[in-house]
Amino acid sequence: MEIRRICVCILCLGACLSLTACLGIQGRIEEYSNSFFAMDTYMTFTVYDDSARNAQAALKQAARRLGELEELWSVTDRNSDIYAVNHGGGQPVKVQEDTAGLLSFALKMAKETNGALEPTLYPVLTAWGFTTEVNQIPPADQISRLLQTVGYDRVMLAENSVTLEEGMMLDPGAVGKGYAGDEAEQILREFGITSALLDIGGNIQAVGAKPDGSDWRLGIRSPFGEGVLGVLRISDSAVVTSGNYERYFIGEDGVRYGHIIDPSTGYPVDNGLASVTIVAQEGKLCDALSTALFVMGEEQAVGYWKLRQDFDMLLVTESEEIYVTKGIKDRFDLRNEYKDMVVHEIS
Ligand code: AMP
Ligand code: MG
Repeated sequence: MEIRRICVCILCLGACLSLTACLGIQGRIEEYSNSFFAMDTYMTFTVYDDSARNAQAALKQAARRLGELEELWSVTDRNSDIYAVNHGGGQPVKVQEDTAGLLSFALKMAKETNGALEPTLYPVLTAWGFTTEVNQIPPADQISRLLQTVGYDRVMLAENSVTLEEGMMLDPGAVGKGYAGDEAEQILREFGITSALLDIGGNIQAVGAKPDGSDWRLGIRSPFGEGVLGVLRISDSAVVTSGNYERYFIGEDGVRYGHIIDPSTGYPVDNGLASVTIVAQEGKLCDALSTALFVMGEEQAVGYWKLRQDFDMLLVTESEEIYVTKGIKDRFDLRNEYKDMVVHEIS
């Protein structure tokens, strides 16, 4: 089985593998970076500041916060909030405020996307092996049986208490990293950091602009290979991509099965979309929408954008066409090898 992580390359940064200062930029402002493993993925936080002490304290605090959230939201750690809720046996389970906040957001987005984002898919994901990495194609009757345990509208969240019906289980995987990115950004801002780039397993959270005031240049991963599809120039935004090319397996039938499931069928999404990139202020919104709009498919995703228009998106289809909202169209430059792709503006 091949596993590929979300990979949005950060073209503008050198890799700093530990908590070290690198380049001197603009007088006394320097770059400080910290890489670590959390939430099942690699993260690199890079900040620009004129005080090494402040920058390193901020980086340490942000990483600590990510570790805290991981402990609360892990589906496998027996001490986590999510584990407790998933094994609550139909009884109310008290959770920390962070967990209640995450679930309340996930349920709100599930409702807004008409269930395309479905935080209770864990039993179905497990049947496909996406929670254990030992993948298999489940029998159709098992999928339809498990689908009966799925339904965000049956999750009861009252203040800090969560109740699931017996057999139901949560998987916060589609929103947790985005939510955590917002938390990390908030900590950096509390330390007075106004220029930083957070790479949370490919989810990017750009705090402010580059130290010289110019936009960050982010490589958007090509769903068709290892390389970069194009470069997006942005400031003060989160950028999150979802696609079935990131984690998938080839079944015994030779078919490629990806890790994003259509909750209406219980099968991996197969709707002609190759990837969905969302750009907005909040990481959690980007994370929720990248998954949900990938499930919806091109036509519905465009319809959804037209209703909201408070985010930008870039859809890549398997037939190698691009649909991009007017807000970022001129900020996105295709790499030479993809210059022939047809680009449609969404407006
Ligand atoms: P993302 O990488 O943010 O698109 O999230 C994908 C992850 O969320 C998967 O690896 C699953 O753990 C979970 N997931 C899969 N399909 C869905 C869905 N339709 N709604 C919510 N979570 C999902
Ligand atoms: Mg997501």
